[in-house]
Amino acid sequence: MSHPDSQPQDAFPWELGIYDAHCHPTDTMAAVAEILTMKATTLTVMATRAQDQELVAETATSLNAAEGQQPPGFGWHPWFSHQILDDTAPATTQQSKEAHYSEVLTPSPASDPKFIDQLPPTKPLSTLIFETRERLCRFPNALVGEVGLDKAFRLPGVWTAEEISSRDEDLTPGSREGRKLSPYKVKVDHQRVVLKAQLQLAGEMQRPVSVHSVQAHGVVFDVLRELWSGHEKVILSRRQREKQKDAEGAISEGEDGDDQDPRRSSKSEKGGMLPGPVEPIRQFLHATNPSDVYFSFSTVINFGGAPAKKVRDVIKELPDDRILIESDLHVAGRQMDELLENVAREICQLRGWELRAGVRQLADNWKRFAYGED
Ligand SMILES: [Zn+2]
Repeated sequence: MSHPDSQPQDAFPWELGIYDAHCHPTDTMAAVAEILTMKATTLTVMATRAQDQELVAETATSLNAAEGQQPPGFGWHPWFSHQILDDTAPATTQQSKEAHYSEVLTPSPASDPKFIDQLPPTKPLSTLIFETRERLCRFPNALVGEVGLDKAFRLPGVWTAEEISSRDEDLTPGSREGRKLSPYKVKVDHQRVVLKAQLQLAGEMQRPVSVHSVQAHGVVFDVLRELWSGHEKVILSRRQREKQKDAEGAISEGEDGDDQDPRRSSKSEKGGMLPGPVEPIRQFLHATNPSDVYFSFSTVINFGGAPAKKVRDVIKELPDDRILIESDLHVAGRQMDELLENVAREICQLRGWELRAGVRQLADNWKRFAYGED
């Protein structure tokens, strides 16, 4: 109900196209058909773990991904990275489940067999990459995601009887589902191995990437820099450019035909974990970076609580063409539309964009991110 004094808001221009850069509707399969009734034009549906990869594929198929609408993302989220066995390191190929989890988790759960017992069997990294490559081939419009690094999260503990009895049957298994947290974290070095292999695949297949980063922007950047090494864009001054033009006829600045770098990445700023306001973000935007990095924002995560100001400062500082919006929601339908509308309005306001122009900008950004269209 509207307050008598409240200003009527401009009607939201859904007709211009609203693109959710990152969401998880397959976490609630019962509501997945709602996607067809939503006002948002396109959802970029992310996979995260064993249980949702094929659900994301099925959803993309049934939503007619062939038309280039709902592009799926296939990848392994850092919260599940402990399940991956790095079989590229010779010493680990035959490692037992106990030895593996004791090594990649910190503190080591070696003296906590009950905890290790309930963890899933490990999956070799080579298998993950093989399967992801196959899915990317099946869906030529697919991205790599959700991948990333997270220094803050801890694994959920062993299911208690109470948690089991109150479990929401509608949720796709495998996620935390409100369970109490254990003390165990996945070592950053291990997360890094899993991330790097998936970024390499993205580069090889020239696919965009959706990256989750919590308290880990520096390490994410290090991994990107390793992969970018030797492929940096050469920035020439005008005089150098003219000289070179005379010598070679033409240069294609930036496009070095390289196939080892992720084409584009989206960094999803989650949990308001931005370290210091704007400075650490700048390195992702450096003109010599061979991949274009976008920053994606969601109302739920980014604008609640104390870190909101930092996030607002970042939004104000970013270039117009590197901002995306996302719902990051686990269920399709009206709530997802509302979140997208809210975050789009908020970003337009912070940037001083007129609503229609801003929505158009966000749509153009997503198309450039996902399809390289300009
Ligand atoms: Zn996500």
